[in-house]
Amino acid sequence: MKQKILLITMLLGSANCFAQKPAIPRDAKIEAKIDKTLSRMTLDEKIGQMLELNLDVMGKMTVENAQVDRDKVRSVMQQYGRPEAETDKILNMSDAQIIEQLGNYPVDIYKGDTKRIWKLNETMLDTLISKWKVGSILNAPGTRAPSVEQWQQWISLIQKKSMNYLGIPDIYGLDHNHGVTYTQGGTLFPQPINLGATFNTELARLGAEITAYESRAANCPWVYNPVVDLSRDPRWPRVYESFGEDAVVNSKMVMAEIKGYQGDDNNHIDRFHVGTSTKHYFAYGAPWTGKDRTPAYLSPQMLREKYFEPFKAAALAGTLTMMVNSASINGVPVHACYEYMTKWLKEDLQWDGFLVTDWADINNLYTREKVAKDKKDAIRIAINAGIDMSMDPYSVEFCVLLKELVQEGKVSMSRIDDAVRRILRAKYRLGLFDEPNTGGKGFEKFGCEEFAKASLQAAEESMVLLKNDNNILPLSPITNHLSPKIFLTGPNANQMRCLHGGWSYTWQGSKAEDLSEKYNTIYEALCNKYGKENIILEQGVTYNENGAYYDENKPEIDKAVSAAAQADVIIACIGENSYTETPGNLTDLWLSENQRNLVKELAKTGKPIVLVLNEGRPRLIADIEPLAKAVVDILIPGNYGGDALANLLSGDVNFSGKMPYTYPREINSLNTYDYKVSEEVGTMAGAYNYDAKVSLQWPFGYGLSYTDFEYSNLKVSASSFSADDILTVSVDVKNTGSRAGKEAVLLYTSDLVASIVPDNKRLRDFTKVSLEPGEQKTVTFSLPAKNLAFVGADCRWTLEEGEFVIRIGRLSQTINCTETKVWDTPNI
Ligand code: BGC
Repeated sequence: MKQKILLITMLLGSANCFAQKPAIPRDAKIEAKIDKTLSRMTLDEKIGQMLELNLDVMGKMTVENAQVDRDKVRSVMQQYGRPEAETDKILNMSDAQIIEQLGNYPVDIYKGDTKRIWKLNETMLDTLISKWKVGSILNAPGTRAPSVEQWQQWISLIQKKSMNYLGIPDIYGLDHNHGVTYTQGGTLFPQPINLGATFNTELARLGAEITAYESRAANCPWVYNPVVDLSRDPRWPRVYESFGEDAVVNSKMVMAEIKGYQGDDNNHIDRFHVGTSTKHYFAYGAPWTGKDRTPAYLSPQMLREKYFEPFKAAALAGTLTMMVNSASINGVPVHACYEYMTKWLKEDLQWDGFLVTDWADINNLYTREKVAKDKKDAIRIAINAGIDMSMDPYSVEFCVLLKELVQEGKVSMSRIDDAVRRILRAKYRLGLFDEPNTGGKGFEKFGCEEFAKASLQAAEESMVLLKNDNNILPLSPITNHLSPKIFLTGPNANQMRCLHGGWSYTWQGSKAEDLSEKYNTIYEALCNKYGKENIILEQGVTYNENGAYYDENKPEIDKAVSAAAQADVIIACIGENSYTETPGNLTDLWLSENQRNLVKELAKTGKPIVLVLNEGRPRLIADIEPLAKAVVDILIPGNYGGDALANLLSGDVNFSGKMPYTYPREINSLNTYDYKVSEEVGTMAGAYNYDAKVSLQWPFGYGLSYTDFEYSNLKVSASSFSADDILTVSVDVKNTGSRAGKEAVLLYTSDLVASIVPDNKRLRDFTKVSLEPGEQKTVTFSLPAKNLAFVGADCRWTLEEGEFVIRIGRLSQTINCTETKVWDTPNI
């Protein structure tokens, strides 16, 4: 009997395992080639394929006329999160000593006329490829963008040596996150959070396609994007790098981007497309402390139902690779988690791509997470848990230690073969064996006008009009001297750095003014739109470009207040300077005091204020919001952000963005829109009041327009349903105003009673329509009933009988689920 049960369990287990079709249907020819290549590889060659090094180790930064700039030294130390005491110690040293300490790192610590030139050391490259057989290299030297030509030269040399020594091409990877971050002269798009705000998946697809083209122009076949980390904690410094807080928005955007990046055939990715590394798998965006790379504590239900969802979508859309979350979930570092990496992705989804670590994260298993006793132990744990490639930027020790582990039987040969197969598969799918180099002829569109237009459109569709009292906006362009004189102020009014944000030309987006000079700041764009004579600029508060991202110079608020006297309207551009990762951590979610004081003092002039928020995450502004007549959140709109804002403020283009996250009002009320119903309790009758208020500044999905949209005629194809049904939901949307506009139509559902506390509401689908004045369109969604299921207390997908509400705009309809279904499979 016992045996029979075991057999049944095994059969069920394998049935589950194979129920899922592979995300990318296997190509027999590619698989045969992988077998052949693998069969002739030595253990050293296999292990070399599993290592990824930073380009910096293959060269040297040479410095001419070196003079140390101590402000830059301080800024570098802060950026890299070094303790104050260490910074002070370094600053007390002589120039020569500082150069000795820091000169070998790829950082800029020199005065303006010091020349820094990074030179690739061919002998070192030879050693790393011939002796250590390294299969992948990443990054830009000193994390600063070189030219296309430079990339072609470096990467083709790497490919030449890889083909000569190994007969296997290198897979070169770059953080081309919102356009070609690390290639000069390419097209930078708005950050992903802005794409989330467009609710327009076609713009995401197009942006990815352009980035793929421009990456291949620079001979780079692999990008570390899309990011689908669900930004659900506003304190986290990487909020802007994903599409926002919702699982469906992130899932639809990632599918669109993978199509844009990889093209239509994931087995045969052509020379104009690249492989993606969807990241950071998973639940990276909800750290308990709010600080980068710190632990998340999340219920198994939330993990499966929300955080996993976009990664599942990416796997099924065929992302070639994924990068793993540097932190831990419920105490288990993801890099050490067999269940999440091997079981959930590779077995349950039959995903045959490869998993790369994030920066030095195997080392972090012993240095930071303390789940391994030393490096060798950490490698054993991570490789056995499912890591295929280690991004160990500065060391080849991985090769020595992993070989020992194999020889000692602590990592099996079959695990090594599986990892290498996955890496080779990606290289074959990318066509790198046949054509290791791209760029040059055929890539003439790099940085062209057509690409710039796409970036501008994405920026325009992403800006969110949050408040517009008495229709103070648009500020119509100068005609017959009737238009107001504009006073422009705030630290974000005349800088490109805050418009393009982190991951723009440099890692932090700082010190890149020389590379973004040709684009318009907000000030320049408004001058172009309204005439220079109509714009008075006095910033009042400015950022200290040599400090940490949050450092500001001594404010000059009085100067700003007196300059405002000559104007009719004030535009205050406030927010944050650029940052990413740990340097972007914060200690206070409120917008800086200087900036809030600036707005408060300007409000005393009695002139109408338009607040322009330019920030990577929602900074609290509850005390100054009531002082403004209008508020526009431009998020981080990229190089055409200034122009897009001018087009919107003037009314030449209409607003159509909606909030991709919940904008909090209070520090103790950091909610997402899909909070549990019991998080919000009304005032109770009787002696005791156990209320709970959800207090927010602006909800997820909120955004105004210069025109009005009326929703009517909400129809659901059935008033009762069961799990296998597919419901059709339709609604009429009419533009009842006098301007053309685009409207993002969002479909929500609520499960009224469930066996675990239900979410307040959940977004299930969305689309965007364009409507002329007076025009009406019917929007139709196909909604599989299983999408209304939740993960129950026993961690199984469950759809329970009872009432559900379908909502679009202010319309709603109640429908009834007639029978309960509980699934046995991990995914449905
Ligand atoms: C970041 C990743 C990035 C990697 C390579 C890490 O520090 O977390 O997002 O892709 O560096 O640059």
